[in-house]
Amino acid sequence: MIKTRFAPSPTGYLHVGGLRTALYCYLFAKKNKGKFVLRIEDTDQERFVEGATENLIKTMKWCGMDYDEGPHADASETGDCGPYIQSKRTDLYKKYADELMEKGRAYRCFCSKERLDEMREAQTKNKQAPMYDRKCCDLPESEIQKKLDAGKPFVIRQKIPYELIKFKDLIRGNVQFHGKTIDDQVLVKSDGFPTYHLANVVDDHLMKITHVIRGEEWLPSTPKHIALYQAFGWEIPEFAHLPLLLNPDKTKLSKRQGHVAVEEYINEGYLREAILNFVAFLGWNPGSGEEKEIFSLEDLEELFSIEKVHKAGAVFNLEKLDWFNWQWRRKKFEDEVDNDQEKRHQKLYELCKQHLTEGQMQNEELLKKALFTVQEKILQNPKEASAHIDFYFKLPHYEKELLTHEKMKVDLNQAKVSIEESKKSLENLEKWTEETIKESLTQIVEKLEVKNGQVFWPIRAALSGLQFSPGVFEIAFVLGKEETINRLNHAIKKTT
Ligand code: GLU
Repeated sequence: MIKTRFAPSPTGYLHVGGLRTALYCYLFAKKNKGKFVLRIEDTDQERFVEGATENLIKTMKWCGMDYDEGPHADASETGDCGPYIQSKRTDLYKKYADELMEKGRAYRCFCSKERLDEMREAQTKNKQAPMYDRKCCDLPESEIQKKLDAGKPFVIRQKIPYELIKFKDLIRGNVQFHGKTIDDQVLVKSDGFPTYHLANVVDDHLMKITHVIRGEEWLPSTPKHIALYQAFGWEIPEFAHLPLLLNPDKTKLSKRQGHVAVEEYINEGYLREAILNFVAFLGWNPGSGEEKEIFSLEDLEELFSIEKVHKAGAVFNLEKLDWFNWQWRRKKFEDEVDNDQEKRHQKLYELCKQHLTEGQMQNEELLKKALFTVQEKILQNPKEASAHIDFYFKLPHYEKELLTHEKMKVDLNQAKVSIEESKKSLENLEKWTEETIKESLTQIVEKLEVKNGQVFWPIRAALSGLQFSPGVFEIAFVLGKEETINRLNHAIKKTT
């Protein structure tokens, strides 16, 4: 059975790149009726961050990516390959390090930090890649024993075989490294803790992981891992290295150019569906011929395939995230209101109430109608709702030129005539609905023998005081007869 795992190191938050890895691991497992495991890789005690693991688990759950095996926030676990937190498994790794030493595939290194620093410095000076020079690789048993008896600290290093290490990456195709170019990796630190490399391989094996899907930054580690699988005589899993995430300027995604923590997007109010949909497209798409971009997690579970993941870096484009958020907000909104006008008003209000001014909130009747006319703007960005409806509450100051429009052939004189005639006609309206307003203004167009814009533009400008706004009939309806006439009078004064 196919089994994938997401194996984050708890740094304090879930990185968007991590979320992408988790999502692809999850989707690949689901698509193949396999299992998805969450494993916490916290062997680096120096980087311990209080609460980081709980935070990670919480964010994974918020995203709806349920794992079949792994730890929960209340310290319980699901699955029979646990514990799933590496710091609870530390005793286990020692046995495997010893096995490697017995097999001659690992050795104790007693070199001091000073010696290693000097060696690296000299190598860098000679333009060589910094690598351990294997001074301790073939120490005689007696000497090793002497050092151990003297209590000298040591690390355990992997003895990388000097041969070609090849593998087929599911995304990148054939990849090969020569063992001679790979440093003898530390597997166990002097404090007895395993490094990522040992713990990762041992756990992937013991947890029966069949597919290792992870970020491209881990590609250089893969030959070391393959050498470990070979040394143990274990079956080697399949590997898939996901493309890097890039800033819009094509540099590696960094905090400096925006948020990288999923939690920050959650706090800003982005919808789970939008975040997942956006992240799914960071390095993958359903393939040519498929124009649809809005996919739920369930859709993606059906659709995902690792072959369609790209090799090239994926640009993290916030505008695209905003677009997904807008589309998802609209979709959820329409589902919820289900063509019920009352629900529509209520829901629009809920979406933006925290961003409205007190004045706007006080005039409930006007507010309700006003929100309705800027529905799409609210769905796009509820934070801007207040700015979009403010003109209903207070006519903005505008210059008389706003009433004119060169292309539509509206000069000040035309504006004046159009507004005066419209005012007279609207004053006589008994029923004030969008329909009757439209009829009334259309009659003026006919009477004056002008184009629609020559009447509608100056009226719309007079009623909104804005270059862009909802349509003229809607505005007049929302403002009501009295305020409409007031604003038209105000405009007439400006033209004379
Ligand atoms: N603990 C590693 C990380 O933080 C996991 C890399 C891997 O998936 O092997 O990303």
